[in-house]
Amino acid sequence: MMGVTEHLYNKTAGGERITAAEALSLWEEAPLAMLMYLADNVRKRLHPGNMVGWMIDRNVNITNICFSHCRFCNFCRTEGSEDAYVTTDEEYDSKISELVALGGDQLLLQGGMNPSLGLDFYTGLFRRLKSRWPGLKLHAMGPPEVAWLARAERMSYHDVLTALRDAGLDSLPGAGAEILSDRVRRTVSPAKATTAEWLGVMREAHRLNLPTSATMMFGHAETVEERIEHLELLRKLQDAKPRGHDGFVTFIAWPFMDRGTKLAEKDGIRSRVTAAEYLRLVAISRLMLDNIPNLQASILTVGKETAMISLHGGANDLGSVMIEENVVSAAGDPFRVDPETMKQIITDAGFIPVRRDQRYLPVEEQGN
Ligand code: SF4
Repeated sequence: MMGVTEHLYNKTAGGERITAAEALSLWEEAPLAMLMYLADNVRKRLHPGNMVGWMIDRNVNITNICFSHCRFCNFCRTEGSEDAYVTTDEEYDSKISELVALGGDQLLLQGGMNPSLGLDFYTGLFRRLKSRWPGLKLHAMGPPEVAWLARAERMSYHDVLTALRDAGLDSLPGAGAEILSDRVRRTVSPAKATTAEWLGVMREAHRLNLPTSATMMFGHAETVEERIEHLELLRKLQDAKPRGHDGFVTFIAWPFMDRGTKLAEKDGIRSRVTAAEYLRLVAISRLMLDNIPNLQASILTVGKETAMISLHGGANDLGSVMIEENVVSAAGDPFRVDPETMKQIITDAGFIPVRRDQRYLPVEEQGN
């Protein structure tokens, strides 16, 4: 075992890329402390200066009506359900006013794939929001919605993304990646975009220079090999982005939350990710994804202590002081923080908190 870790220590210390097979050996054989040490070195090389990013944004769900019925989701409703909704202009106004009052300027717009809503609905919504709140940044939708709209409207990914961008889309979240393996997707989200579709939409977004994020929801039906395969697919796609374009700005992984989901209640697949396993995933991701600059710890799902430790094992960002979040919250008990607590957590972990924007660039904080 020492041979493997020593050899890979030398590779990562020299900034050399590890292969998927080497990542798997590390996952299976290296002690967690060794993995965290290796990943921390990569983080220091990419982000000298001991700074950790955070931001303020607000999640608003466009609609909870969705035809996909992913087996890990208990947020979606069918059309006609008593509690089905499409968010109204008045609701956007009041939610955005609260965001702006807190000093935030990014709206994370997510939700279901509602068969009654077409591309015109989304472009109209983005235009209205941008004309009412010109400084607002829209981090909205995700590859599954783009792939679905392209199919429904008989358009290319390029044309759908261009229409959304022209209407006000600033960046595309990596939503709906789960695990990029069609074997796993057939089990957990059979009606959603395939691996090739998810990657195809992202490839087009990178060509258009829309900043994107890469994600992973793990700890359900996948094997460790499939987690590593997922990382390799992301790395390959990032390698292929046009020079000078943002591509994936960050990678965020979170464990599957099982409460009230079909996966847990019908299929017997429960959340089983321990803090140690999450930290192992963060470290391996930092080592594999040498071409994705930022790695965000999911404080919302893993909580304060594990997120703090992850900053010493590859992560350089704690994400957002999320004012509202409904999809993860529906299946677990998310950890929420206010701006002062967020800064204190980062300081207590031994780092300098830096408020950042959507592109992970520092912003001036009022009062600082
Ligand atoms: S996770 Fe998203 S796509 Fe899947 S059922 Fe829920 S809302 Fe729909």
